[in-house]
Amino acid sequence: MPHIARKRFGQNFLHDVGVIQHIVSLVGPEPGQHVVEIGPGKGALTQYLLKETGALDVIELDRDLIPLLERTCAGLGELHIHSADVLRFDFASLATDGRPLRLVGNLPYNISTPLLFHVLEKVRCVQDMHFMLQKEVVQRMAATPGDPDYGRLSVMVQYYCYVDPLFLVGPDAFSPAPKVESMVVRLVPHIEPRVQVTSTTRFAALVKQAFSQRRKTLRNTLKGLLSEDQIRAQGIDPSLRAETLTLEQFARLSNALT
Ligand code: SAM
Repeated sequence: MPHIARKRFGQNFLHDVGVIQHIVSLVGPEPGQHVVEIGPGKGALTQYLLKETGALDVIELDRDLIPLLERTCAGLGELHIHSADVLRFDFASLATDGRPLRLVGNLPYNISTPLLFHVLEKVRCVQDMHFMLQKEVVQRMAATPGDPDYGRLSVMVQYYCYVDPLFLVGPDAFSPAPKVESMVVRLVPHIEPRVQVTSTTRFAALVKQAFSQRRKTLRNTLKGLLSEDQIRAQGIDPSLRAETLTLEQFARLSNALT
């Protein structure tokens, strides 16, 4: 029976061979590397990744796709299929032999933001990530202070990673075609953090709170966390909005939390 794409699983399968090969060439997988693909689907990217590395871990939620995936990849190498929800998947459980993970995926767009936050939690065992996402999500990840797209996602992703938007992909590269444009992005975790933060939990909580009401000033959004005087003591004007603050200023505010 042919597989019918499921909207609830964000299924837009890549069929443009030029785009597929371009992604694989930018990843540059090599034998012996520990590559992990999120949402392999029917194996559009998987077959090329597997051919290069000889072994691959994949995480797929839709069990009906597994036989198709196995067929596409038969004879190409060792395919380790994890039939699981990536949002609950512990990436650290794969990184047990000391090799850092290289994550790749044409991601299900309906869960892209929670998925990015989930991956960031385990970023210490990751070498790099190449993801296809909705164009707007990549723009938000790469945005800088003052940009209309700058927000919690920009600050948190940039705290952990260098963000490199690679190329745009139109809807025609997929089947079914999504209603949005897509973009491939490379994320490379910083070896040394760009800013010093005494607690990443407190940093994440402060950033979340600061952007909880975008139009409001820090004086209002951070009420309960930091007083106006405490904000000022960090050299930051309490009448500013979160969308104008640099990563370094967020770090300073979060380090002032007790
Ligand atoms: N990689 C394939 C391609 O490029 O043709 C499929 C990409 S499709 C945009 C997203 C894939 O992620 C689908 O195979 C879908 O079933 C899978 N998926 C959706 N939600 C998932 C989840 N929570 N955990 C793991 N896989 C998921």
